[in-house]
Amino acid sequence: ECNNPSGLIGDSSCCDYETVGKLNIDFSAKLQEIVSMPFFRYFKVNLYKECPFWDNAGLCMNRDCSVETMDKQKIPEQWRSEALGKVSMPTTNQVPMPNRPVKIKDQEFCAPDIATDEVYVDLKDNPERFTGYSGPSADMVWKAIYEENCFDVSEEMTAGCQYCESERSKVPKGKGQLQQLMEGIARNDGPEESCLEKRVYYRLISGLHASISIHICDEWFNQTTGEWGPNLDCFVSRVGMHPERLENIYFDYVVLLRAVTKISDYLAGYEFCTGDQTVDKNIMSVVTELVDLVKQCPPTFDEKLLFQDGGQGKKLKNQFRDHFRNVTRIMDCVGCEKCRLWGKVQTTGLGTALKILLSYDDASLKGHRADGVLSRSEIVSLLNTFNRLSESISAIERFGVMYQQRLREE
Ligand code: FAD
Repeated sequence: ECNNPSGLIGDSSCCDYETVGKLNIDFSAKLQEIVSMPFFRYFKVNLYKECPFWDNAGLCMNRDCSVETMDKQKIPEQWRSEALGKVSMPTTNQVPMPNRPVKIKDQEFCAPDIATDEVYVDLKDNPERFTGYSGPSADMVWKAIYEENCFDVSEEMTAGCQYCESERSKVPKGKGQLQQLMEGIARNDGPEESCLEKRVYYRLISGLHASISIHICDEWFNQTTGEWGPNLDCFVSRVGMHPERLENIYFDYVVLLRAVTKISDYLAGYEFCTGDQTVDKNIMSVVTELVDLVKQCPPTFDEKLLFQDGGQGKKLKNQFRDHFRNVTRIMDCVGCEKCRLWGKVQTTGLGTALKILLSYDDASLKGHRADGVLSRSEIVSLLNTFNRLSESISAIERFGVMYQQRLREE
C-alpha cells in the first residue's frame, strides 16, 4: 500500500501534510527561481579531503559520479574572500595544518571545510540524481550517520533519553553484521524513541536519506533505454512503502521552513554583492518575495521545546551539535564525487538550520546584532537544501498520481 500521507506531522508544531503540500506549491516556484541565480548556484567546496573515519578505497568511477568544477575567475571577488566565512578559520593568523586542531565555535553544527584545494562548483550544472553509487561504501556511510544518534547522557538524564552503549556494542564489525544492522533499520525504521531530541535527530537524518532516495528515483537512468526519468518502483520500494520515511521528509521541510522564517529579516537585509547593482537588485527582489511567503506561514516547528532540562539539556545539546558535526565530516567518506557534493550541500543546509534554530534567539538575528551570523556558503546550502526538500515533496505528489494510474490500469 502506498498512499499519499495525511494527518499531522509528528514532532512538528501543528502542521499537517496537506498544509505543507499546499504551501509548497508557492515555495517550489520561488525556490526554483532562487537556486537558478549565480549567487545560489556557485558553491565553494572541498571534494578531496580524506575520509577521517576509515580507509576509503574504491571511488565510484562512473561518468555520472564526477563533478565539473568552475573557473574561479567567474566568481565575484567579494564571494571568494568571504568564501570560508566565519564558520571555518581559526582566529589566529596560522595557516591550518593537517593535524592541528581547528577551533570551531560552539554555535556551529557543521565541521569546517578547511583545506587549500577547494573548488567552485555550479550546482545547476551538476544535478543530484542517479549515479549508480551503491554497495558496501554507501552502506558504510549511511550506517555511520545513523550511529551518530547515540547520546551519552544515561544516568543523570531524567527526560527519557537513553544512553545507547548497548546499541553501540551491537554495532557490527564484519559484513554479515552490517547486513543485520541495515535489516534492523529497515524493519523498524528507527526505534520508538521517547526522547524528543533523539527523535528529532533521527527524523532529520532519515528525512534527508529519504529525500536523497527520491531524487535518485525521480531522475533515474534507465540502462536499457538510455533515458533519464522517474522510476515508480524505485520510489515505492525505497520510500513510498515506508510511511515514516515519507513523514520524515515533511519533518525536515517544516524544520527548514522554520529556520528560513527565523532569518527572514536577516535575509531581507543581506547584501548580496555580485559587483553588479542590477543583479543585486534582482536577487533582492526574489529573496524579498520568498521572505513575504514565509511570513504568511503558520508556525511549523518549535525549537524551544528542545533541550529544556537544565544542565542535562545543555549536555545533550552539546552532544547533538557534536554528532551533527560528525555527520558533516562523514561526507568526506562518500565514495562518489557528485553524491559527496550534494551530501555536503544538504548536511551543511541542515546544520545551518540547526545553528539558526538552536544557537540564536529571535532578537539576535535582527539588525546589526546579526551581522556576519551566516557565511555565504551557509546561506547557499540552506536555500538549496530547502529547494531539494521542496522538490521531494513535489515528486511525492507526482509519484502518487503515477501509482494511482498504475492501480487503475492493473
Ligand atoms: P540505501 O539508500 O543505501 O539505504 C541503506 C539501508 O538504510 C536500507 O536498506 C534501509 O534499511 C535503510 N534506509 C533507507 N532509507 C531510509 C530512511 N529514509 N530512513 C531510515 N532508514 C532507511 N546515489 C545516487 O545514485 N545519487 C546520489 O546523488 C547519491 N547521493 C548519496 C549521498 C550520500 C550521503 C550517500 C551516503 C549515498 C548517496 N547515494 C547516491 C547512494 C544511495 O543513497 C544509496 O545508498 C544507493 O542507491 C543504494 O540504495 P539501497 O536501496 O541499497 O539503500
